Amino acid sequence: MTVLTDEALCVGADLDAWLRVGGGEALRRALADRAAVIPAIEAAGLRGLGGAGFPTHRKWAAVAAQRAGGEAAQRAGGGAAQRAGGGAAPPAGADGKWIVCNGNEDEPGTFKDRFLLTRTPHQVIEGALVAAAAVGATQVALYANPREAVALAVLREAAAAWAGHGLLAALSAALGAEVRLHVVEGSGLYIGGEETAAVASVMGGFPFPSLKPPFPAEHGVHGAPTLVNNVETLAQAALILRIGPERWRALGRGGAPGTKLFSLSGDVLRPGLHELPMGTPLRELVFDHGGGMLAGRAFKAVFTGGPSNTLLTAADLDAPLDFDSLRARGSRLGTGAMIVVGEGTSILRKTAEYVAFFAANSCGQCPPCKIGTHQVSRLLERIEAGRGRPGDLEALENLAGLLPGSGRCGLVDGAATVLASSLATFREEYERALGRG
Ligand code: NAD
Repeated sequence: MTVLTDEALCVGADLDAWLRVGGGEALRRALADRAAVIPAIEAAGLRGLGGAGFPTHRKWAAVAAQRAGGEAAQRAGGGAAQRAGGGAAPPAGADGKWIVCNGNEDEPGTFKDRFLLTRTPHQVIEGALVAAAAVGATQVALYANPREAVALAVLREAAAAWAGHGLLAALSAALGAEVRLHVVEGSGLYIGGEETAAVASVMGGFPFPSLKPPFPAEHGVHGAPTLVNNVETLAQAALILRIGPERWRALGRGGAPGTKLFSLSGDVLRPGLHELPMGTPLRELVFDHGGGMLAGRAFKAVFTGGPSNTLLTAADLDAPLDFDSLRARGSRLGTGAMIVVGEGTSILRKTAEYVAFFAANSCGQCPPCKIGTHQVSRLLERIEAGRGRPGDLEALENLAGLLPGSGRCGLVDGAATVLASSLATFREEYERALGRG
């Protein structure tokens, strides 16, 4: 049993159908022994699947250890909110802790969360409710990208179906306060997926990232302890409770636990979403599940993660795709997006595209990020267009060294990492474009 079973994918927003195919079991188990939930997540070895790979049980334990309440803890809570565009944000209130189910997915090449939200929303919601039971949260924000209109519509229908349901009532009774589900539309900005920006968005503000610490676990929505987890992380948490941590762990390969949704795109015959054992080698993903390279072209590289990590090359084809194995190779699994590049596709061109994306999506709060990503983007475009000048390559190398760590979130680090990796691994493309090759 995995996340993307035919049964799970057929039920959509229909809660009764979800309960008929075994849904609800995870929450029932969590309610039967709330104290056993975090140890089960730890035993499974679940890590944050939004990209960072932080041990999920540690984040849950951090929220569970906090006292409920926040800045607005004395104010009364309002009814369930459904914020659309400029509509009202969910209320502040004496609501205790929050869960933010982060579905703002916008990383280039990443398309897993919209699929989960659209096709199996109850698995995600049940995961969020399991988390609520574990950490003692009564407010659940289902936060999604406004560009994903279908996912949002399905999520609204699915969330409404839980209202008044006996299982939700049982959770409220266990927590001693009414548990509320809020569907929250993001701003449509990429940066809104960063967790502190997501917290700001849920409160109705502009999604500016803020410095950490404090982590949302300590100071999140309306100042209350807040668990921000990616959509896939919560869906997997529901599955862990349902089938047990041992069975879930055993779904992985080579010691890596569970399954992972890989967003495969680029120069492959069969791009798409593949749920595979964590630890599946890159070669299998590309050549078996992806059908191999487009038009018989040779494999050249993969932008992982989204494209904010160190590139994988042909030397990495046998690398197991899991957090630790890729880190040991100096790269990262990130969101599990794998953008495959074949011979004939320019790495310089792709790097320029991704850096342009980061430059366009910098929130502008941190000058090195705002100015640095634009400067890198300008240099890359100029070199790629054959208008490079003496010193451009050295300027890029200088910026790749200066920029990491200069922003309050990871955006500038991602841009600098892909730049540095592309420069180091495919330097001859840069030299050629500069007429030096
Ligand atoms: P991070 O390493 O700062 O944090 C990871 C998580 O651990 C956060 O939730 C953080 O709050 C929590 N955490 C860390 N220390 C903690 C502590 N002591 N107590 C409680 N919680 C603690 O990473 P991040 O900036 O949240 O995420 C970066 C990743 O996001 C990147 O790897 C990138 O792949 C990914 N990303 C994803 C998308 C997308 O569309 N899904 C977009 C951009 C970036």
